[in-house]
Amino acid sequence: MTNVRALVLERQHELKLRDIDLPQTVGPGEVRIKIHTVGICGSDVHYYTHGRIGPFVVEAPMVLGHEAAGTVVETGEGVDHLKVGDRVCMEPGIPDPNSRASRLGLYNIDPAVRFWATPPIHGVLTPYVVHPANYTFKLPDNVSFAEGAMVEPFAVGLQAAAKAKIAPGDTAVVIGAGPIGTMVAIAALAGGCARAIVADLAQPKLDIAGGYQGVIPVNIRDKSLAAEVKRLTDGWGADVVFECSGSSKAWETLLDLPRPGGAAVVVGLPVAPVALDIATASTKEVRIETVFRYAHQYERAIALMGSGRVDLKPLISATFPFEDSITAFDRAVEARPADVKLQIRLPD
Ligand SMILES: [Zn+2]
Repeated sequence: MTNVRALVLERQHELKLRDIDLPQTVGPGEVRIKIHTVGICGSDVHYYTHGRIGPFVVEAPMVLGHEAAGTVVETGEGVDHLKVGDRVCMEPGIPDPNSRASRLGLYNIDPAVRFWATPPIHGVLTPYVVHPANYTFKLPDNVSFAEGAMVEPFAVGLQAAAKAKIAPGDTAVVIGAGPIGTMVAIAALAGGCARAIVADLAQPKLDIAGGYQGVIPVNIRDKSLAAEVKRLTDGWGADVVFECSGSSKAWETLLDLPRPGGAAVVVGLPVAPVALDIATASTKEVRIETVFRYAHQYERAIALMGSGRVDLKPLISATFPFEDSITAFDRAVEARPADVKLQIRLPD
């Protein structure tokens, strides 16, 4: 253990930039990474404001941050696909490779997964981190560190697109234009959708999402989403509907949106159980899919960004220096309507 500086969530509502003991020794199969940029995730903010997410409760001081990119500064024994100086981003969840879920390829739902900034595991808002090389991915030269730190949330979008089983030319509906909703829409378009109808109440967020070719923004403050989807699909409905708002209200009409035989993909997590209209779902044979983080999506995310097909830079709203991390978190708590993703830059 080494004493290093980090952004520590001491308990609910209390953040501190201070020294904390973190492991810095590089074992076999591991790399040490100098962190460059870390994105602030809704989950980091929620631990700050609520001290818990579902069963995960902050019971001891925890370093925040899990959306990160940086540079390899040391490689452990047996690491041959990465070298010192490589620019990388990291998958924050480390599963047990021998677990039954991992052996099925479903390592994201391995109950033993250790995920950065999910209690009791420390996150990466700290200058250096040690991580398994197999969960560390090289960035192409044309993908910046800031974009590299966007790979994590974009991987959620790709997981949702994969679960949707999109066919070329499909019409998608995305409820929620926050960072995840917008990235789900971009992933759905990259996955073959001809258009993504994106719904939200915040016009500035819709304007940002609407900047992407194929996105049709709908402000549900002044329009009924169900009516818009009907109008745009000649009454047939959408091939796939992604629920990314986590709002229980969205569930009241969610199953009216897919076409017969269409899909509803659940990405947002409502805080309490919601009622599900089984009769509507069954009479249309709606396929319902759920998404928990991602598995095998990092290479795909990096490939899309490296090819120039996907540009996530417009979603980065502001960048704060590490010393202003608490200011950055308080800004995230404000939830300004024009803020999509806030990032923190570690010192060079
Ligand atoms: Zn995240």
